[in-house]
Amino acid sequence: MTHEKPLDVAWSTAWIRGAAAAVAEHRDELTALDAAIGDGDHGTNLDRGMHAAVAKLDSQLDSRQGAGGVFDLPAGVLKATATTLLATVGGAAGPLLGTAFLRASRACDVDVLSSQDVATLLGEAAVGVQMRGRAEVGDKTMLDAWQPAARAAREAAATGASPVEVLRAAANAAVDGADATYSLTALRGRASYLGARSVGHHDPGARSTALILQAAVRAA
Ligand code: ADP
Ligand code: MG
Repeated sequence: MTHEKPLDVAWSTAWIRGAAAAVAEHRDELTALDAAIGDGDHGTNLDRGMHAAVAKLDSQLDSRQGAGGVFDLPAGVLKATATTLLATVGGAAGPLLGTAFLRASRACDVDVLSSQDVATLLGEAAVGVQMRGRAEVGDKTMLDAWQPAARAAREAAATGASPVEVLRAAANAAVDGADATYSLTALRGRASYLGARSVGHHDPGARSTALILQAAVRAA
C-alpha cells in the first residue's frame, strides 16, 4: 500500500507517543482490571512510565536535527523507552516491558524496518518477557498477548506481507490474546494468588500490551 509510512525513526517516536496517549486514555480501565485480580496499580504505574518515556524523548529532541532528534535509528528510541520504563515503573510490569523494549531495540538497528525486522522486533520482545517473567503461554499474563503477536508477525512476514501489515497482524493477535485471558486461570504474578477466582477477568498486562501494539500500527 503506497500510503504506508516507512517504519523509521519518526515512526518509532510516533509509536511511543501514541502508546503513551493510549495508556493515559485507558489508565482507569487498566487500573480497574488490576484491582479485580491484582493490586490496582497497573494503569497508574504504566501511565507514569510512558509519560516519563515521552519526556525523555522530548528532552532529547533537537529541532535542528531530523524527525527523531538525537536518535538516528528506531533502536535509539526504543532503547531510551526501555531504560526509562525500567527506571520508573515499579511492580512486575516495568521490568517486563522494559526488557521487551530493550530486546526489541536490537531488531531496530536499521534506518527503515523490513517485514522481517518487524517480526524479529516482536519475537525478541516476547522472548524478553518470557525470560524475565518465566511465565508460560496460558498463564494469564502479558505473554499471552506478546507471544501470539510474535507468531502472527512471523507468519505474516513469511507470506510476504508489508512491514505495516505485519505490524497489524501482530496487534490484532495481541488483542485476541488479551481477550482470551478472560477465561484463563492466573499462574504467575499477583493474580495467581487468587487461583480459580482469577477466571472471568482480563489480564491487565495483556490488555496494555494490546494497546501498545495497536499504537504501533496507528503510528504507521
Ligand atoms: P504488579 O503485579 O507488581 O502490581 P503491575 O500491576 O504493573 O505489577 O502489572 C501486572 C501485570 O504484569 C499482570 O497483569 C501480568 O500481565 C504481568 N505479569 C506479572 N507477572 C508476570 C510474569 N511472571 N510474566 C509475565 N507477565 C507478568
Ligand atoms: Mg499491580
